[in-house]
Amino acid sequence: MVARTELSALRDRYDLVIVGGGITGAGIFREAVRTQASALLVEARDYASGTSSWSSKLVHGGLRYLKNGQWRLTLESVRERQRLLGEAPGLVEPQTFLMPIYAGRKPGRWLMQFGLRIYDWMAGARRSRWLDAQTTLEAEADLARRDLLGAMAYEDARTDDARLVLRLILDGCADGGVALNYVKASVRSDGQRVCGVRLSDAVSGSEREIDAGVVINATGAWAGALPGAPAGAPSLRPLRGSHLLFSPRRFGLRHAVSWLHPQDGRPVFAYPWEGAVLYGTTDLDHGETPDEPRITSQEVDYLLAGLAAQFPRLCLNAGDVISTYAGVRPVVGGGKADPSAESRESALWQTPGLVGITGGKLTTFRVTAREVLRAAARELPRLLPQDEQPLFASATPVDSQRRLYGRLGIAAAGTLMQEVPGEELSRIGDTPWTWAELRWAARHEQVVHLDDLLLRRSRLGLVVENGARALLPRVLAICREELGWDAARCDAEQARWLGRWQSQHAPPGWTA
Ligand SMILES: Cc1cc2nc3c(=O)[nH]c(=O)nc-3n(C[C@H](O)[C@H](O)[C@H](O)COP(=O)(O)OP(=O)(O)OC[C@H]3O[C@@H](n4cnc5c(N)ncnc54)[C@H](O)[C@@H]3O)c2cc1C
Repeated sequence: MVARTELSALRDRYDLVIVGGGITGAGIFREAVRTQASALLVEARDYASGTSSWSSKLVHGGLRYLKNGQWRLTLESVRERQRLLGEAPGLVEPQTFLMPIYAGRKPGRWLMQFGLRIYDWMAGARRSRWLDAQTTLEAEADLARRDLLGAMAYEDARTDDARLVLRLILDGCADGGVALNYVKASVRSDGQRVCGVRLSDAVSGSEREIDAGVVINATGAWAGALPGAPAGAPSLRPLRGSHLLFSPRRFGLRHAVSWLHPQDGRPVFAYPWEGAVLYGTTDLDHGETPDEPRITSQEVDYLLAGLAAQFPRLCLNAGDVISTYAGVRPVVGGGKADPSAESRESALWQTPGLVGITGGKLTTFRVTAREVLRAAARELPRLLPQDEQPLFASATPVDSQRRLYGRLGIAAAGTLMQEVPGEELSRIGDTPWTWAELRWAARHEQVVHLDDLLLRRSRLGLVVENGARALLPRVLAICREELGWDAARCDAEQARWLGRWQSQHAPPGWTA
């Protein structure tokens, strides 16, 4: 429901200008719009194209943070998980995890049980339970069997991270905020304080200066490189995390399974996600820019070794991978030798006219957003966040539409059902997406490039083999109708998409 406007259509001044359209910026934008302040969000590329579409897609407390003694972060995360499960069904869904326990190996049953009791206590409900070996194998037959004692079962939640970001942005726009993708910002100061931004639109080539009551630097891993911003951003230790996706025909999981990697004892996990099986992750220092991270062959080998240990019967190898992705965590450097031991808490800083925020987790975006607005309200009191109210107005008329309503919200999902031809409500192959969602996204969700549609409005480019090549003729036909692309534009977009997929998402050793 949100057309992409020209820079010339913007006001001269906004109370709040948010730079960065990942989960952090999107959460701040959504909360800011509820304060009645005027808010503008700009994203240099596509929404969620930074780190926020490359996470593990878990809305979770983070058991390993509990192990590291990060009680506050775990408690906050568990509470946010519970809130989101209640408010956003269809977008944030419960996910049962199994942690198999083996004789003579870590983690031991009693330590796990103790940790999970605390986890349950934080959520206010007892959800974890012990499964004996036979029940464990009935649940997941392909687990390694030798010395298996059973498994601890516990509950967390999963989401589609890119759609979570989009839902926040689109809801914020529906309530009066303005958001623009493919618009890069630099910060302007009047000598005393930050007073606005200079914007440059990659689509039209136009430029514009906008005044701001407060500017928010929500640029994640790019936080220290926002042009024109005064010093103050913390020093980041960017950590790359990579994932592999498999077809469920080859790796048929019913639950999430979490285990410790035999090489270094780090937790890894695999779970069914959007019609594929998602498995990760690594946690390594990332020495390059965060712009286009990709998995290395060492990471592929490490991840496959983890699978061979936990699912030996499946004999999964690089040829079974359908796609890969990598993301860069904006972690505040704490000087720890082990990257995984670094804190995942967010860091906030403030200079006159600007609030900066980086680090943190997808799960806790709402808490972060409110913290940022409280800081911004010191300069402009009307930015003080509203009393806590549900962030999402979700209602699920019938279960078969739960997913659509969760992703789009009530108003947009209702309009989609009326606006889009009924036959397009059919699912695309074995995936959970419908053709109607693609048409809707092209029409209403600021799609600029084909990869916006295949990687973030939907995730077809990741979960369908070969970068969804077989679907491209029909997807491009929708783009021709909805976005007015001619044959030359379609060819250029297809080449751009396939080039991007091959360099960043193709399975190891893939050849055309
Ligand atoms: C591998 C991995 C797994 C993870 N798993 C989980 C998980 O399961 N659960 C969880 O809760 N968290 C998880 N996280 C953490 C979470 O994904 C991140 O904390 C979060 O996505 C960071 O969001 P962000 O908005 O701060 O940054 P980003 O999403 O990177 O957004 C910043 C945006 O700013 C834009 N930008 C930069 N410069 C400019 C400019 N000059 N003008 C305009 N825009 C600009 C960038 O293009 C980018 O889109 C994971 C992270 C990784 C890497």
